[in-house]
Amino acid sequence: MTDTLAVLEPATEAVLEEIPRGGVQDVDRAVAAAKAAFPAWRAVSPADRALLLRRLSDTVVDHLEELAQLEARNAGKPIGDARGEIGMVAQVFGYYSGAPERLLGDTIPVSGGQAFTVREPLGVVGLIVPWNFPLTIAAWKLGPALAAGNTVVLKPAELTPLTAVRFAELCLEAGLPEGVVNVVVGPGSTCGARLVAHPDVAKIAFTGSTEVGRSIAAGAAETIKRVTLELGGKSPNLIFADADLAAAAAAAPSAVFGNAGQDCCARSRILVQASVVDEFMAELERAVTAIRVGDPLDEATEMGPLISASHRAGVASFLDDGAPIAIRGSAPNAPGFWFPPIVLSPVGPGDRAAREEIFGPIAVVIPFSDETEAIRLANDTIYGLSGSIWSRDGGRALRVARALDAGVLSINSNTSVRVSTPFGGFKQSGYGRELGPHALDAYTEEKSIFFATV
Ligand code: NDP
Repeated sequence: MTDTLAVLEPATEAVLEEIPRGGVQDVDRAVAAAKAAFPAWRAVSPADRALLLRRLSDTVVDHLEELAQLEARNAGKPIGDARGEIGMVAQVFGYYSGAPERLLGDTIPVSGGQAFTVREPLGVVGLIVPWNFPLTIAAWKLGPALAAGNTVVLKPAELTPLTAVRFAELCLEAGLPEGVVNVVVGPGSTCGARLVAHPDVAKIAFTGSTEVGRSIAAGAAETIKRVTLELGGKSPNLIFADADLAAAAAAAPSAVFGNAGQDCCARSRILVQASVVDEFMAELERAVTAIRVGDPLDEATEMGPLISASHRAGVASFLDDGAPIAIRGSAPNAPGFWFPPIVLSPVGPGDRAAREEIFGPIAVVIPFSDETEAIRLANDTIYGLSGSIWSRDGGRALRVARALDAGVLSINSNTSVRVSTPFGGFKQSGYGRELGPHALDAYTEEKSIFFATV
C-alpha cells in the first residue's frame, strides 16, 4: 500500500495536493539511478554540459509563472516574492552554465616533470532542503553540483515538495539525461537519514535547523562524507546614530518580516544606538503597521502566513509571559496559519527572544551605547550568518563589518544573497559556502597529478 502525503496550503489550511510519500527503498532506488547516470554525465563535454544548464535555465523561465504560483500556494509566500525566487532559480543555472568550461586547475613548478591539479566531481550528492525557500535553496546546490559533473538526489521538505517534483520533470524537458536529477519526497527522519548514511552518497549539502545539521554532521562522519551546512541565524541589524535613520527604519521590516520571518538571514535583532531609539521606533512603527499581510496570491500582499500550525505555536511561544509588545501589525482573522508582525521592546540581550532563532515575524530592539558595545552585542550569539550595519561613517561601517563574526554582511542595505557572491555562516550557522565562483570547490575533489619528463 502506498503511503500518501497531504500537502497543505498554509493560507487556507486546505489540502493542495496528495502525492505518494517515499521511504528508504525509494531513496535507495534514487541513489542507484544517480550512481548509474554518473559516468555518462561526468563524461559530457564541458561545452555540452554548459549548454544543458543554459537550457535548464531557459526552461525554468518558460515555466516561471507556473512554478511561482505553486511555490506561493505551497509555502504561503507573496506571489511577487515567489516570482523573484523562481527568477533566481533560473539565474543560478545561467550563472553555473559558465562553470563547466571554467573549472580551472593550477600548474605548480616542481623538478623532474610537470605538476598540475584538476577538479573531479564527487559522484552522487544528496541535497536536503527546507521549506522556507524550497526551490531556490535547492537550486543553490543543484547549480554547482551539476556543473561540476555530479548527479544528485534531492530531498525537499515534506511541507513543500511540489516545486521540486515539477522541477525534476523540467530537467528531462530541458534535455538532462534520466538519473542525473532525482527527487525523493519523504520524511527527514527516514529518507533524509538514509541519504546521510548511504555508502554510495559522496556528499550531503544541507540547509535547515542547527539541530538537524548537527545530527547530519555526526551521521556523515561514519562514511567520511563531505558535508556543507547552512543552518540557523539570529542576525543583527546595527543602526548607528549617524545613519540615515529614515532609510534604516524603512528597510528594517522587510529584513526581518520578509517571508514572514522564516528566513535564516532575518535581521531579527535590531540593535539601535541609544540616543536615537525613540526616533527610530517612531519610524519603525509606521513601517511595520503598513505591512500588508494576507492572501499570497494577491499582488498587493507583502507578507503571507507561517508554514504550519505547529510552527505557528512555536513562534507564539515567544509571546508568553507578558512579552513587551511595542509594535503589532495586522493579520487576517481567518483559516490559515496567520501571525502579525511584532516588535518587542525593551528586551535585554539575555532574554529568550533575543537569543533563540524565532523563525517568525517577531523582532527585538536592543539599545547600545557605542561601537564597542554594538560589536559585543552583535557577536553575543551562537550564530553567525548575516547582518547589516547602517552608518554614514564609512570607516566605522567597515571596522564593524570586519569585527562581526558573520559570513554575509551589508552596509547601508540588508542584502544577503546574490547569485555571484558567496553565502554561508560562521559559528553554529554552519560551514561551507554556496553561490559565487567558489561553490564549485564544495562539489569537487582537487586532484594533484605529476607527469615525469626525465
Ligand atoms: P529541519 O532542519 O527539521 O528540516 C530541514 C530539512 O531536513 C527537511 O527536508 C527535513 O525533512 C530534513 N530532516 C529532518 N530531520 C532529518 C534527519 N534526521 N536527517 C536528515 N534530514 C532531516 O527544519 P524544520 O523544518 O523542522 O524547521 C525547524 C527550525 O529550523 C525552524 O524553526 C528554523 O529555526 C530552522 N530552519 C532553518 C532554515 C534555514 O534556512 N537555515 C530553514 C528551515 C528551518 P522533513 O521536514 O521533510 O521531515
